[in-house]
Amino acid sequence: MKTFNNHFLMSHEDVKEYVANHLGLFENINVLQVEEIGDGNINYVFKVINSETGKSVIVKQADVLLRSSGRPLDINRNKIEADILKIQYDLMSDFIPEIYDYNEKMAALTMEDISAYKNLRYELLNKKQFPKLAEEISEFMAQVLVSTSDLVWDRKDKKEQVKNFINIDMCDISEDLVFTEPYYDYKNQNIILEDNKEFVEEFIYQNEELSVQVAILRDKYMNYAQSLVHGDLHSGSIFANQEGIKIIDPEFAFYGPMGYDIGNVIGNLFFSLAHNDFFNTDASFKKWLSDTIVSIYDLTKEKLSNVIKEKATLPLYQNETFIKIYVDNVMQDALGYAGTEMIRRTIGDSKVKEISSAPETKERIKMERAILTFATACILDRDKIKTGSQLMRRYHLAMY
Ligand code: ADP
Ligand code: MG
Repeated sequence: MKTFNNHFLMSHEDVKEYVANHLGLFENINVLQVEEIGDGNINYVFKVINSETGKSVIVKQADVLLRSSGRPLDINRNKIEADILKIQYDLMSDFIPEIYDYNEKMAALTMEDISAYKNLRYELLNKKQFPKLAEEISEFMAQVLVSTSDLVWDRKDKKEQVKNFINIDMCDISEDLVFTEPYYDYKNQNIILEDNKEFVEEFIYQNEELSVQVAILRDKYMNYAQSLVHGDLHSGSIFANQEGIKIIDPEFAFYGPMGYDIGNVIGNLFFSLAHNDFFNTDASFKKWLSDTIVSIYDLTKEKLSNVIKEKATLPLYQNETFIKIYVDNVMQDALGYAGTEMIRRTIGDSKVKEISSAPETKERIKMERAILTFATACILDRDKIKTGSQLMRRYHLAMY
């Protein structure tokens, strides 16, 4: 029998032995079926099913080499993912898969199978509506972000967590891909349509006002240990069905600005809206999505302030003016990071499906310019936009 005491990338047979004999999650190894369902670039995700009872679990394993490119990456990312999932599950169990086991030696995370929920990005491309999305994602973010901040957590414990969640390799990726390369293509990795090269040169690369603000946002991402953030909360990390949502894949987690997660959610939903504006004409879907984005902004702002009032213990933090300033700052950061996310996913090399799946027509060129224009407004005017409907007005100004 294998001991699973030293790291190696598991084969399907190893995974069966691991969940049945090593973890004791299944009695009969002979009826188990394994499938590798990973669709990301980074890790291996094994789904194990008992073919007789239908009981299933997920084993997510990090290898020392990336799944796609084969380049090396620190497997500690998997421990960070397990640790944050446990914290988030304790705070908001409805929205997180249950963790059954974490094996640090194997960098293997065994968790609840949430296959009943589907990747939100793809669902939105198929024009599916989720009536509870705004309510749930805003509740999740407000509760988790405020509860893991100094406003609520014991300050010694919080400092221990800041240390535990130092995520050098993964933050390094974001520092480059999100905050450096889109503005200064020093690795020659940006991918820009021929017809948009001049536009990007003038409105992004040569835009000094923009680069100053991006430098400020980059510095804040790196130095403002406000809350335990997911770090990659795009619409492919949110899984949804009519019952609710589940949040997965937090391996980019670290102590950073709350606005980073909120901005990722909002920025990525604007891709779905823009794609729909340029390539689909489903009015009912468009209205639902637009209302949802407006509500996510407004509800998150409201709930952040409610959770602070409900959970902050220090009288200093209960002051109304303080709470207003604090929440205003978070929402400003959120708009800034929504902007950096939209820019990097449009001109950087990890494009979103809403862009890469669009045919390379005049419409696509217009869509990309409109998104870049809107993203730039989100960054430069983040102190002026105060409500969801003001944000939506800015989007419409940029689109037409
Ligand atoms: P990566 O870190 O490689 O991006 P993800 O965590 O995004 O990996 O997982 C890749 C895919 O595996 C997801 O898009 C999803 O389809 C599937 N998956 C991951 N975790 C679960 C889970 N707990 N239950 C069901 N499917 C999952
Ligand atoms: Mg992923």
